[in-house]
Amino acid sequence: MDFQAKIRDIEDLIQLTFGEPGFAVDDRIKAVAKVSIGHDRSHYANSQGETNLRRAAVSYFNRHFDIHLDGIDQVLVTQGVSEGINVVFMTILEHGDGVIIPEPSYSPYSTSLALAGGVKVALDTAPDNFKITPASIERAIDQATVPVKAILINYPNNPTGVTYSESELSAIAATLKKHRIWVISDEIYAALTYSGQHSSLYRMLPEQTILLTGLSKSHAMTGYRIGFIFGDAALIKKMLTVHEALAFAVSTLSQDAAFAALTVGEDVPEYALKAYRKRRDRLVKQLKLLGFEPVNPQGAFYVFAKIPAAFGNDGYDFAVRLANQAKVAVLPGEAFSKNAKNYVRISYASSDADLDEALQRMTNYIQEGVDY
Ligand code: PLP
Repeated sequence: MDFQAKIRDIEDLIQLTFGEPGFAVDDRIKAVAKVSIGHDRSHYANSQGETNLRRAAVSYFNRHFDIHLDGIDQVLVTQGVSEGINVVFMTILEHGDGVIIPEPSYSPYSTSLALAGGVKVALDTAPDNFKITPASIERAIDQATVPVKAILINYPNNPTGVTYSESELSAIAATLKKHRIWVISDEIYAALTYSGQHSSLYRMLPEQTILLTGLSKSHAMTGYRIGFIFGDAALIKKMLTVHEALAFAVSTLSQDAAFAALTVGEDVPEYALKAYRKRRDRLVKQLKLLGFEPVNPQGAFYVFAKIPAAFGNDGYDFAVRLANQAKVAVLPGEAFSKNAKNYVRISYASSDADLDEALQRMTNYIQEGVDY
């Protein structure tokens, strides 16, 4: 049975299941959205993205991702990275084309791929500490039974929090260059990197990479639905046709707010990162004390952890019991990979108060077997 359906009616449940930032949108950004309404910005926006927003995006992401976008024809504004993924798959794939999806991974990728008629070529990262390596990419390409057209890489990763050093990425880039497949790089969590500077695959492989990112995680703007696709101008033009068929354009009000986020709100990710770092450290420390084995999270706001041996090896069963008895909801690892059944994903995006209470309840449940 679907896990969310199974826990839906439990009362007083603390949800550590969502990828929803526990911050309000910055006041400076909200002020711009209000002015937009007052100025009747209620008409169709430029379908590729408002010119000022695309200009701001080129400037912001060239600086923050250390990439070299030449101009606004290399940018497409989408309804979040969610729509962006559909646009990319529907543009580059022919029916039956393979896409390597390293797992564990964000589960909607598989649905988007199926919608576009693509075939998943799964790459299990668990044996390599949840990292993609040149050898595992070679193996996935070798063993694929369909022509491999692309790989979808996500880092910092949901659900593991894993990210890559400059040298790891250049080794991966060299392998991908050799195989000349598209590199779809979902870098939506780039601003939430704890281990120093985020390096973008786009900088290393600009001719092969389609870069996806957005404002949901960095600026806590999930409901505004703002995503960006960056890539070759001719390809962006093809993707625009697909985007126009799917959504036509992104809300004009949201685009105005996004412009504010990339200009006056440039410092927002920094203060969020400080808060998330503290939560991560607290959570990882406590989980280890309780007997979990967490993957070392270097980015995003999730901990992916092997459940304590005393609780068996079924993460689904553990999560159901934790929800019912401790009133804390975490996601079973199998939501992200069939090879991670003894793991759970714990989100620390929600408030400090919720995290404190959840940790207390988990501690009681695991150490003392307290029934709620
Ligand atoms: N990609 C990853 C890896 C995510 O974790 C999420 C949301 O959780 C998304 C994309 C979707 O983001 P958006 O809100 O921009 O559609």
